[in-house]
Amino acid sequence: MIAKGQTIIQIMDKFAPKQLALADDSIGLQLGTLNKPVSQVLIALDVTPEVVAEAIQMKAELIIAHHAIMYRPIKHLRLDFPAGKLYEALIKNDIAVYIAHTNLDVAEGGVNDILAALLELEHVGILQEVLPDQGIGRVGRLPEQQLLSELVNTVKIAFEIPAIRLVGNPNHMIRKVAILGGSGRDYVKAAIFAGADVLITGDIDYHTAHDAIAAGLNIIDAGHNIEKLLKPVIARMLQEKLLKMGYETKVNPSEVNTEPFQFM
Ligand SMILES: [Zn+2]
Repeated sequence: MIAKGQTIIQIMDKFAPKQLALADDSIGLQLGTLNKPVSQVLIALDVTPEVVAEAIQMKAELIIAHHAIMYRPIKHLRLDFPAGKLYEALIKNDIAVYIAHTNLDVAEGGVNDILAALLELEHVGILQEVLPDQGIGRVGRLPEQQLLSELVNTVKIAFEIPAIRLVGNPNHMIRKVAILGGSGRDYVKAAIFAGADVLITGDIDYHTAHDAIAAGLNIIDAGHNIEKLLKPVIARMLQEKLLKMGYETKVNPSEVNTEPFQFM
């Protein structure tokens, strides 16, 4: 027996409830229908043409992705434009796209908990509350204090990345770490307030980096693509729950690397 799209999404909604999402976030079903049996699910970070090709290849009927395919209002559906082509491929192959974004960041066991666990952070708490006892980003302690320069290596190994951008002093001793997978721009104050020695995040801009230096906060910009690490964890969680319910639906983490940057 294979699960219906709705059943699969009920599990996702229980794991990362929609009400946890930040205001105006683009989440939920964005394309297609859930009212169909789904034999293969693809878990992705971004829905790029390569990811859609992967979904077509494995005959997936549903992509669950972290980043929205539609985040600005679309004004046309032109099939000679890249976005239109992407929607066309999805519709022609009857592939639905469901998005779990900031609700998956906030969720217990979601993106930020996955990242915190990979760094083996202890006494993990919330960086910024969204709802009572629920929030975005995590703060925790390293098992042992390390120099910032050592933590950089730890991060590169744990997050499987070739390079990071560092803001601050590599000789600082680090004990308390704030971590936030996506854009860290709005969380510098929260990291300082939480007493973090470093904020590890996915995107930081020039002026925010200056603000952080002025405030004495170190930042490791590990790249937005570190959120790729959600793929195997969420795929495993969903697969286990479906198996327990007696479904034969397969859940696959996408193997496409959607890092847009090259490190030279
Ligand atoms: Zn993100």
